[in-house]
Amino acid sequence: MATSSPSAGSPSAGSRIAGAAGALRCAVCGSESRQTQFRPAPPEQAPDLDLRPGEPLRGTMARWLQQCPHCGYAAPDIGRAHPAAAETVAAAPFRALIADTSHPPLARRFLAWAYVLEETGALHAAAEATLHAAWVADDMNRQDLATAWRRDAVALWRAGPALDAEQTVRVIDALRRTEDWPDAAATAEALAASAPEEAVAQVVALERRLIGERDAGRHTLASALPPPARRPHVAHQKIRRSRSEGLWSRLRRMFRKD
Ligand SMILES: [Zn+2]
Repeated sequence: MATSSPSAGSPSAGSRIAGAAGALRCAVCGSESRQTQFRPAPPEQAPDLDLRPGEPLRGTMARWLQQCPHCGYAAPDIGRAHPAAAETVAAAPFRALIADTSHPPLARRFLAWAYVLEETGALHAAAEATLHAAWVADDMNRQDLATAWRRDAVALWRAGPALDAEQTVRVIDALRRTEDWPDAAATAEALAASAPEEAVAQVVALERRLIGERDAGRHTLASALPPPARRPHVAHQKIRRSRSEGLWSRLRRMFRKD
């Protein structure tokens, strides 16, 4: 198929895509396939406590990753790849992973991306992609798979660099969702004791209450974050980092209950 002269290895994604669903050259195997570039619309509903986005973005997971039909490489843009990705994709564990028909195909795509990320040293990104696979399992009522992949995600987060407060909240939520009560409670207690910013503290307070109630269900950020107080900067003196506003505070502004 004729394309607009894609140059292998070029990182300029836009030039390789003709229209919304043009031919794209896989950065791992060099094969061309038709791929759609995903342009997310901003979510309108509050995210879950593990930051799974609300609708309408929530329902678009099937379009978050591209996957090469020839080699199986999966990524947000298969026209780009880490230098070590080709070796990873060719190796037996990756081939077995994408061929495992006992797992939902969409989940396998996220796990494939997670595996490449893990093998190339991006452990926190690998945790994120593994959590996405768990969300797919949630939607298919495959509690067994969702539990296994949340535990994998927690292990990847903890294997990587030191976690910030926001990532730690997601670890706590994953532990709670898998009913790992002692670890969830201890991790939440440690985060609460570290004097996090107010918005994080509110989410941790909700997590601790849910853990105490042995509630392993899905909850959204809207139930954790009341409308902002009139003294928005008082709590900032306790922030350990220099950011003027954290992720949870931004989310609170976006999704606060009115
Ligand atoms: Zn390929």
